Amino acid sequence: MRKRPAASPRTQVRRHPERADYDRTSIDAILDEALICHIGFVVEEVPWVMPTMYARMGDILYVHGSPVSRMLRAAAGGADVCITVTLLDGLVLARSVFHHSMNYRSVVLVGRPQDVTETEEKMAAFKALVDHVVPGRWEDSRQPTTKELKATKVLRLDIREASCKLRSGGPEDPSADVELPIWAGVIPVTNQVGDPIPSLDLPSGVELPAYISHYRRPSRLQRTPSSE
Ligand SMILES: Cc1cc2nc3c(=O)[nH]c(=O)nc-3n(C[C@H](O)[C@H](O)[C@H](O)COP(=O)(O)OP(=O)(O)OC[C@H]3O[C@@H](n4cnc5c(N)ncnc54)[C@H](O)[C@@H]3O)c2cc1C
Repeated sequence: MRKRPAASPRTQVRRHPERADYDRTSIDAILDEALICHIGFVVEEVPWVMPTMYARMGDILYVHGSPVSRMLRAAAGGADVCITVTLLDGLVLARSVFHHSMNYRSVVLVGRPQDVTETEEKMAAFKALVDHVVPGRWEDSRQPTTKELKATKVLRLDIREASCKLRSGGPEDPSADVELPIWAGVIPVTNQVGDPIPSLDLPSGVELPAYISHYRRPSRLQRTPSSE
């Protein structure tokens, strides 16, 4: 079933609205591809923006961390937060310095996170967080003890108010600049992983699982030769 678009007055893209998308399929695809988000919150009138990992499960975004984390305590404090997720797809080199740009897909989410206190949901959130980073890792790892569960705070944010903004394609030089003898185009940027490095204390005989040897970040990036 098609999900309700996440547009709201607060998430209405004003600058370059033609690059905006509020469709949950587009938003979810970016959330599922990226690994980190930045959470913006205010403590004693000072704004902070902290990087952290996250996972999406259906219509909910989960973040976790230490119960004494200022970020998590502030985010659970009953005020709205802003969460951003960014994927960098390319460096756009125009003839003029002014028209240099970046190709990207980004999501901005606003809402009021809530503490997850129920054990079953907390476990499901842990699994989502682990499998978001390395699919298959949860089943292959030792599960959290009750003590470890208590030592971790989990917050949930409903994906209700969000926007996504995308830039793709080449530089947008004014026609007067196109004849200049300056290279113009795009340097694509992708996320790549290296070969796994075994832990120094790994007992002999522990084999590298296929989900690690075949590990790749998902990429739904579509490149187009011309500007959109
Ligand atoms: C990798 C990258 C590099 C960028 N570089 C620059 C730069 O150098 N200079 C610059 O001015 N801008 C840059 N941007 C665009 C920037 O994110 C803003 O979209 C832009 O500055 C307009 O901001 P605003 O507050 O005026 O947006 P408005 O359009 O007023 O924002 C209104 C609402 O639109 C939504 N929105 C705005 N921007 C985004 C976004 N990027 N993704 C998802 N939703 C969004 C939010 O919900 C926001 O509340 C870059 C973006 C990315 C991802």
